[in-house]
Amino acid sequence: MIHFMEKLGETKDAEELLAKASSEDVELLKKYYVLYKRNDINDNWRISGLFRKDDVFNEEKEEMVAAPFTSVYNGTSIFDSSRQFINVFNSTGDQNTEGGSWIGLMKIVYRVNGYDLNKLMQCCAQKAVIRNGNQEYIDCGTSIVGAHITDQLNMIGHELAPGYEYVYLLPLCSSHNHYANYNIIMTPNTVLYAIKLAGYKQII
Ligand SMILES: [Zn+2]
Repeated sequence: MIHFMEKLGETKDAEELLAKASSEDVELLKKYYVLYKRNDINDNWRISGLFRKDDVFNEEKEEMVAAPFTSVYNGTSIFDSSRQFINVFNSTGDQNTEGGSWIGLMKIVYRVNGYDLNKLMQCCAQKAVIRNGNQEYIDCGTSIVGAHITDQLNMIGHELAPGYEYVYLLPLCSSHNHYANYNIIMTPNTVLYAIKLAGYKQII
């Protein structure tokens, strides 16, 4: 059962994005909904995937909330080698079982803003990562997904630091995206824009 939160207003950033977009892109952007499920551990709502309204969706029995992307979009934010990050969770939404893909959504935002789309064709993480204080190396995989990451490096499991409610989308390969919740700190290998989403932990 999906509860659609149609009445959530658009963020100021979403209004600006829609104002710049072509009518075709406006139509696309308004089809995207972020799906939230309850966290088994503490009952908070957390992002589970992405849903595009014209896609076929096999409804699961569990309850979900769908918020329009335009109600959680908080603009873009620059990441470079001085801004380390960790992967919040494995972006299963990019397997397309739930509709639209995060990387597809990133491409629309990049296109509307006139950003370099080539940045989304490759993994943005350096091979060298830090795991438990030690440097290790992860070779890149082939496919690229829009991964949910945070620059709040003091996460515990799925939980962001108290009071912090943003996650970002960055392009990661299947190998780097695989290392979610392992406390692996990654560093960007380029300068690029991340998409900023608000309301990660709780929206109702
Ligand atoms: Zn990679």
